[in-house]
Parts: sequence; structure tokens; C-alpha cells
Amino acid sequence: MTSPDAEPTSLYTAREPIFPRRVKGAFRTMKWWIMAVTLGIYYLTPWIRWDRGPNLPDQAVLVDLANRRFFFFTIEIWPHEFYFVAGLLIMAGLGLFLFTSAAGRVWCGYACPQTVWTDLYILVERWVEGDRNARIRLHRQGWDGEKIRKRALKWTLWLLIGLATGGAWIFYFTDAPTLAADLVQGTAHPVAYLTMLILTLTTFAFGGFAREQICIYACPWPRIQAAMMDEDTLTIAYRDWRGEPRGKLHQGEVAEGQGDCIDCMACVNVCPMGIDIRNGQQLACITCGLCIDACNDTMDRIGKPRDLIGYMALTDEVRERAGQTPKSVWSHVFRLRTVLYTVLWAGVGIGLVVALFLRSEIDVNVSPVRNPTFVTLSDGTIRNTYDIRLRNKSGSDETYSISVTSEAGLVLRLEGSADALVRVPANETLQQRVYVEAAPGSAAAVADRTELRLWVADTGSTARVHHDTVFNGKGQ
Ligand code: SF4
Ligand code: SF4
Repeated sequence: MTSPDAEPTSLYTAREPIFPRRVKGAFRTMKWWIMAVTLGIYYLTPWIRWDRGPNLPDQAVLVDLANRRFFFFTIEIWPHEFYFVAGLLIMAGLGLFLFTSAAGRVWCGYACPQTVWTDLYILVERWVEGDRNARIRLHRQGWDGEKIRKRALKWTLWLLIGLATGGAWIFYFTDAPTLAADLVQGTAHPVAYLTMLILTLTTFAFGGFAREQICIYACPWPRIQAAMMDEDTLTIAYRDWRGEPRGKLHQGEVAEGQGDCIDCMACVNVCPMGIDIRNGQQLACITCGLCIDACNDTMDRIGKPRDLIGYMALTDEVRERAGQTPKSVWSHVFRLRTVLYTVLWAGVGIGLVVALFLRSEIDVNVSPVRNPTFVTLSDGTIRNTYDIRLRNKSGSDETYSISVTSEAGLVLRLEGSADALVRVPANETLQQRVYVEAAPGSAAAVADRTELRLWVADTGSTARVHHDTVFNGKGQ
């Protein structure tokens, strides 16, 4: 039992700064490429131009928040087509399940924005302050001229990256060149400045200072992913049956009875999470592969086989310990679970593509006015009213003709229009009131309900769509 006089145990441990060392190797090279591609896409996409007609910015990727629309090159998603966004989110989720069940936290280690931006911030840090040892020395020394100068330069560069990150984000929501000019001239909307400020500061804080703390404490993904991994999932592990007992290797010495690990600490020193993979798999490991590069380099130097640290599944570990050959990588990647995820992922993708090609350029929504259900005009004509919402999804102004077909000889009139034509500007929605009338004593006038079909046709093309509804008569 704890003595009442005992000091209370703190539940908080202060962050130990991590100074990852530079490393070269296959995984590091792959991470550089992924960083270049993902950041390139993020920063440059808003600047890709695309002809969108007279009423919209000529931007290839645009989120039109005011009208709740999304433009992606040739694809336009309107508010009533939100199922496309839902489908893409489902695909993203299934993709994460697929990659996690096949190769563990590959998303965390290679493509997560937190990893990519932290990598970029560490690159800048190393460029300004030097590699691991120089940075540790600078961290420990007092605030002299050198430290103030280097910290000021590093933080300025970090802030500029944060500013570019926040700036790029808001460019997705409006015409990028116009907004850039407005931002410089100080005439942009205050929300644009506020969003940029928030994103600049969060990028600065998350990439510069919080780093691995976000992955360990703030992100729920490490906990969720455990449910998606099994004994066949590839992940990064240390072959302790080969490496232990570890021991330092001194020049000219033959290490009798010693494992392959020479305790050089290279795997620990390069780790951006500050962990020692030799202690077993840990929640903090983002499987970035840098410890593999570091250890392979050491193994090359001492003339031992590579992959003392490497990707392996739990089943491989059992086999290797028993002196058996591990299964091939592909047998871990292609198995029932991953094939199932792939089929589901492809199914949703194919469904979205088919829906995309089948949809019409004209979108029509018909709302019958049912209060009252019909009116009787002075000459005995029975009139029903309908509100038609027309969406012109093409990039040019269009004229649509509206007509009705029915076996009961109904007549259609448009409110405010002598002919049955409606002009809808490009990328706009227009509501048109429509009257359908039955002559006195006609079948539709005396019937309770008569089925009818409203047609909307583009006068400039062959495109036309219809909507089925009913006409309410007097019901005698
Ligand atoms: S232990 Fe290795 S794979 Fe895991 S985070 Fe550290 S360097 Fe990356
Ligand atoms: S890099 Fe390899 S040899 Fe060096 S300490 Fe890590 S596991 Fe041992």
C-alpha cells in the first residue's frame, strides 16, 4: 500500500527531444520520392487550369462551397450527387484496410501528412543545424549568437512552409491566381487570412515540435489498425534469434558466441519516433523502414547478411525460429482477406465510374404543388402546378424545352413564358413553375389521378430526360 506521505506519481512524462540521424538506403529513397510526389500534388494542383465556362474559375480542382459543388478535371459533383463523395470515402477506407492488413502501418510510415511534413521539417532542421550530433550539441548549449541565428533561420523556414501549406489549402476553394493576388494586396476575405493563419501555426507546431507526439497520443489510427492486422501481416521486426546476444565489435576482434547485432545504435539514432525496435514491436513504430536502412548499412560494413531488421510477419518469425524458410512476401500480400478487400474496393470503384458515365448533363427535379392538389379555372379547366428544378451541368448556357406526354391529352404552360423554353446559365440551377391543364369534361379532368411524363430536352443537343408524376382531377 502506498504511504500517505509518498510523493504522488506523475501521470505526465515530459517529451524527450528526438534528433534523428541522416540515413541512406532503399526505404529512405522511397520516402523522398513519396514526399516529393505528395507535396508536389498538394501544392501545385490548385494552379492547374481547366476551362469551366463563363461562370466559374478555370480551375481543374475546385471546391465550390457556396454552391456545394466539387470539380475534379472533367468530373463535377453536385450536391444531390453526394453519393460520389461517400463512394470515394468508402474506397479510401477500404484502401486503408487493404494496405494495413497486407503491410501494417504503411500509411503512417510513408504517406500520412503528419509523417510527410515532419520529414520535411527535419530535412530543413538538418540543413540549418547539422546532423544528429550537431543538433544535440546546439540543443544543450546556451542561447548564444550561433543558437539564436540558427533557431531564427530554422523557425522562419518552418513558418514559410506552414504559410505555403495553409495558402495551398485555401486555393482549392476559389480561383487560385485571383486569391493569391488578393492575399498579397490585403483585399482577400478575412476568413482566407484566418484559415491560413490557423493552418500555418498548426503545421509549424505539428511538424516542428509535436512530431511523434501526434502519432502516439493524438491519432486514433495506431489503435484502430491493430484490429486489421493478423499473424500474416508484414511489419517491421528485429531478428533477435540472429542478433542476440548483442555486443560491441572492436576493430581486429573476433566476437566469439556473439550475435550479429553490434549494438551500434544506428537503428535507434535514425528512428523518427525515438524507439528501439530491438525491444519488440511497439505502438509508436510507424513502420517507416529507416531502421532497416541503418542496420543494413551496418551489416554491409561488418560483412554480415542484411535484414537483421526487416519486414516480416509473425508466421515468418515462428518459421525462422524453427529453422524453416519463411513464406514469400507475395503469399502475405495475396490472401483471402486482402483479395476480399481488393474486390470490394474495385466493386465500389467500378460502380462509381459506371454511375459517372450514365448520368445526364441535365438534371431535373419535379415537385408537384399539392396545396391545393388542383384548381378549377373560370372556364372549368382543371389545373395542376409543378415546380421543376433544372440543373445545367454543362459549361455553357443552355435552352431547354419542357413538354408533357400523357394518354389523356394534357396541355402544358410555363409561368412567365409564352413558349415552352427555359434558358439556364452554365453551371447554374433554375426553378421553373409549370402548369398542366385538362380541358373541362376531359378524361383527366374527371378522373381521380392520371399518370403523366414531363420531358426536358436540350435544344442544342439530343440530350433529354423525363420525370414521371401524376395529374389530380376532380375524381367524379
Ligand atoms: S522502429 Fe524503425 S520502422 Fe519503426 S518508426 Fe523507428 S525507424 Fe521507423
Ligand atoms: S543497427 Fe543493427 S547492428 Fe546496429 S544496433 Fe541496430 S540492430 Fe544492432
